[in-house]
Amino acid sequence: MIIAVANQKGGVGKTTTTVNLATALAATGQSVLVIDIDPQGNASTGFGIDRRTRAASVYQVLLGQIAAEEALQTTRIPGLSVMPSNAALSGAEIELVDLDRRSHRLEAAIDSLGHFDHVLIDCPPSLGLLTVNALVAADGVLVPMQCEFYALEGLSQLLGTIERVRTGLNPRLHLLGIVLTMVDRRNRLTENVADDVRAVMGDKVFKTEIPRNVRLSEAPSHGLPALLYDSRCAGSEAYVALAREFLGRSRPLPATKVA
Ligand code: ADP
Ligand code: MG
Repeated sequence: MIIAVANQKGGVGKTTTTVNLATALAATGQSVLVIDIDPQGNASTGFGIDRRTRAASVYQVLLGQIAAEEALQTTRIPGLSVMPSNAALSGAEIELVDLDRRSHRLEAAIDSLGHFDHVLIDCPPSLGLLTVNALVAADGVLVPMQCEFYALEGLSQLLGTIERVRTGLNPRLHLLGIVLTMVDRRNRLTENVADDVRAVMGDKVFKTEIPRNVRLSEAPSHGLPALLYDSRCAGSEAYVALAREFLGRSRPLPATKVA
């Protein structure tokens, strides 16, 4: 399954969710690829990939300068590879415009690779051509949502983009679900927002909530996913639970039910 982790707002937990869900999925023994298409490169940093070793990145892959395989890096997590970002990617939104099949470049790159059980794409905070490439390549979209006052604002724009990509470019695409992040159940505001999002979006919202947890924000400065930095912290446990819920939801229906 190819998953775009997207939300055009910054700072809502896309990268934290990508890095830690990917790690929790790899911990179950499945093969996982993380593609970092945010020019900020935070997911690459979160896996401890040094900026000096990002010469072969998703940027050159999108521009057709190197094969996708050449940009893959292994991590200290068994079964988990990363295609890192590079600062040059900030120019790609413009450089891609003039290229052939500009929205299908990431899809073609992933198609050229061997099999991974899961591919997670960490999107930039915009709905530009990089995010569109992720949506065209993906089977599903995972939307991290921070429980703050304006949480639902912007969701209709994102859902509209998903719908346009689904009808125009990628009929496979669907909303996998919304993950509530940075939840603090002792805080009335985040509690109200979480309840509102559940009321509006129903079972599209994952039951698992990611709590506000300082270990999750400390881990990247050590170049480690939280699960390797502190496997017992509430944040790590929440992402393990999210992985379990995700696997339960994405398991294909038995043949009898499909027919
Ligand atoms: P995005 O990728 O959407 O911009 P990030 O995942 O980078 O968002 O998160 C934004 C900031 O919030 C980062 O500093 C990150 O470490 C922190 N953060 C994310 N999730 C949590 C959480 N559950 N608890 C505490 N801090 C968090
Ligand atoms: Mg990010």
